[in-house]
Amino acid sequence: MKNLSPTSNLLLNWCVILICTAPAQAADPALKGNVSSTSKTAPSLPASKNAAAGAIVTSAYGQGVHAYQAARYNEAVAYMYDAIMKEKAGANAWLYMGNSYYAMGQKKRAIETYQSIKTRFPGTPQAIAAAQYLQRLNPVSTAAKTDATETGATETAEGKDESGEKKAATMSPAAVLAGLRQRMKIIRPAYGRTEVTKRTIAAVDACFDKIPPQVREILYKNDIKFEITPTMIDKYPEGAYQEVAGYEGGTSKSCPGLFDNGTIVLSQATINESTDEVNKPRKVDDLEGTFLHETGHALDHCLDWYSRSKEFRHNYYLDIARVPDDVAPRISYFLQKSDAGQIESCAELTSILLGNNRGKDAELTIYFPNTLSFIRKKLGL
Ligand SMILES: [Zn+2]
Repeated sequence: MKNLSPTSNLLLNWCVILICTAPAQAADPALKGNVSSTSKTAPSLPASKNAAAGAIVTSAYGQGVHAYQAARYNEAVAYMYDAIMKEKAGANAWLYMGNSYYAMGQKKRAIETYQSIKTRFPGTPQAIAAAQYLQRLNPVSTAAKTDATETGATETAEGKDESGEKKAATMSPAAVLAGLRQRMKIIRPAYGRTEVTKRTIAAVDACFDKIPPQVREILYKNDIKFEITPTMIDKYPEGAYQEVAGYEGGTSKSCPGLFDNGTIVLSQATINESTDEVNKPRKVDDLEGTFLHETGHALDHCLDWYSRSKEFRHNYYLDIARVPDDVAPRISYFLQKSDAGQIESCAELTSILLGNNRGKDAELTIYFPNTLSFIRKKLGL
C-alpha cells in the first residue's frame, strides 16, 4: 500500500471498512403476481432498511414489508395502512400498499393508491413508479394500449416467481435516470466551508450518463441513494466511523468517498489530517473515479455481495496468480488477503467498466481479464 498515493490509499481503506460494516442487504420485494397478462414484469419496490435479513422487525412498516415479501398482500395492506397512519411512513409505504392491491387483483384500489402517490409525493421516484404502474393498469387513459386479456388475468398472484429472482422494471431508461438523479442529495457545509459547487455536481451528473441503462436499473431498483458533501466532516460532524481511526492514520477528514448502508457519499474535498486545512476541491476525473468506485461497491451490495462468491473468487484467483512479481507491489491494494482484495477489485474493476480511467485502469484491465469478464456478465454488460 506504500505504493499508492496517500489519498487513494485512504480512499480504498475507507471503502473496506464501511463496506464490511454495512448491514446485510434486504431482499428486493419484487411483486410476485401480475394483474395483467400483458405485463411480463411485476412492480418492484426499493429494498427496505427495516427488512434487513435477520433483523427483528417491530414497526408496522417492517412487518408490512415482510408480509409483502411473503405474498401475504392482505396483511401487507393492513400493516402499511398502520404505518402511514401511526408511523408517518412515506411514499414507500404507499407504494407497497398500491402494489399489494395490484397483486391481489384489486385494480380500482391499486389505481386510487397510485394516484394518491402521484399527488402526495410529486417528483419522487415512487411517484414515477406509480405513474408507470398506472400506465399498466389503465392503458386506455394513458394511451399505452394493451390487449384485452387484462381483466381475465387479474387473479394470477400465484404465478409468482419462486426463484425470488428480481424482475426487470418496465420503467423507461429515461424515467430510471430521472429517478436516480432525484435521489441525489447535496449536504450543506456545517462549518462555513465552501458549498458543493456546480462543477462537482456536474461531475456526478456526467457519471449518471456514463452508467449504462441496465446498470442504472440495478441501482434504481435497489434504492441506492447519493450524497455529495463539501467534506466528510460536513456529513459526519461528530466524526462518525470511529472504527476507522487509527487505520493508516485516516479519519473522516481525509475520506474522499464511501458507500454505507445503501448510500454513496462523495466528498468534494478532503481535509489535511495534520493541518486541518481543507484541500483544494478534487479534480473532476478524481471525483468521477471515486464516485464510480463507490458505485462498484453499491452494485456489489445490490447483487448480494457477489464479490465474495465462489465464482468471483475463482476468476479472481486465476487472475492474481498471473500477476508478475514486479507489478504486484503497484496493485497490492487489490491483492489483499481475506475478502478485502476481492471486494476492492470488484469495485475498482466495475468503475473501469463504467468509464473510470484514472490511475490504474490500464494495469488492472490487463491483469484481471477473468474477473472483468465475470463482472461484465454479472452486470449484463
Ligand atoms: Zn472501495
